[in-house]
Amino acid sequence: MNPATLTVVIAAYNEAQALPGMHARLAAVLDGMDLRTQVLYVDDGSRDATWQVLQSIAGNDPRVQLLRLSRNFGKELALTAGLDRADADAVVVLDADGQDPPELLPALVGKWREGFDVVYGTRTSRDGESWLKKVTAKAFYRVINKLSFTGIPADTGDFRLMSRRVVESLRDLRERHRFMKGLFAWVGYPQTSLPYQREPRIAGSSKFNYWRLWNFALEGITGFSTAPLRVATYAGLGTALLAFAYGVWIITKTLLWGDPVQGWPTMMAVVLFLGGVQLMALGVIGEYLGRMYLEAKQRPLYLVQDWQPGRGDAAADARRAQQE
Ligand code: UDP
Ligand code: MG
Repeated sequence: MNPATLTVVIAAYNEAQALPGMHARLAAVLDGMDLRTQVLYVDDGSRDATWQVLQSIAGNDPRVQLLRLSRNFGKELALTAGLDRADADAVVVLDADGQDPPELLPALVGKWREGFDVVYGTRTSRDGESWLKKVTAKAFYRVINKLSFTGIPADTGDFRLMSRRVVESLRDLRERHRFMKGLFAWVGYPQTSLPYQREPRIAGSSKFNYWRLWNFALEGITGFSTAPLRVATYAGLGTALLAFAYGVWIITKTLLWGDPVQGWPTMMAVVLFLGGVQLMALGVIGEYLGRMYLEAKQRPLYLVQDWQPGRGDAAADARRAQQE
């Protein structure tokens, strides 16, 4: 019987400093596993020496496959590109900076062998991250789980193992605005979690500043919920009811006491308030409309500049030959 295969997909953007250490750690773990393994690095249009570093890693390790995108497409699309090419019984997604410890691979595979299709890592602690990032992350998971029908597990990143059928199901989801965590949850199948401690990155700095994270959160909410559109409806309904009650009051008042010309401050307050509510509702509609516009163009999700297949897992083959 052929041994099971495992592909590790790693998206890397300007990670030249972190990659050598990262790959050494990963290779040590893979050496000890009884699977045919491959590592698929996706260079997400890096502007530093990432591609050269990856070339030398691939030169020394036949298990390494390299994919280079034509420009920076963002982590979600880089992962998509990797998953599109990962052709193994199980696929693991890791960060290039060592924050998701590769030492957990045997545990992930263990749970997979128990029969789970998805094993996702849940962070019990986040070392080296600011309290603001932790607080906003927590708030985000609370909001999105209130709004969306797809339950998205809290404190869970992209770090996970997926079986072949999960990866194949993901390939059917070709939306351009991709919130991978949501898509991972959307496909379903038996899922389980593996608690772990998220480590500080080994080198370099985070690519996600607060503005990027905010946009990422918007992507998640608009991609998995239409609740904000409904909020606009209810806000409109609420203001209309209030306006009606106020109208009744003004008419009664005028009938009873006449109408000396007054009320400039109330006028201004009402006009400005309504203007604000209307603009906000339009903005929400615009967010969804803009996304529909971009989907409608049907552009490819990403473009590939280079593809370098691996040379196989010689060590695993040798082990197998020895056993036979
Ligand atoms: N990444 C990527 N493309 C990007 C930004 C990031 O492929 O445009 C990769 C990055 O190289 C790393 C992973 O996504 O492997 C997570 O990025 P980072 O560590 O900066 O995020 P954080 O851990 O701070 O959330
Ligand atoms: Mg990181």
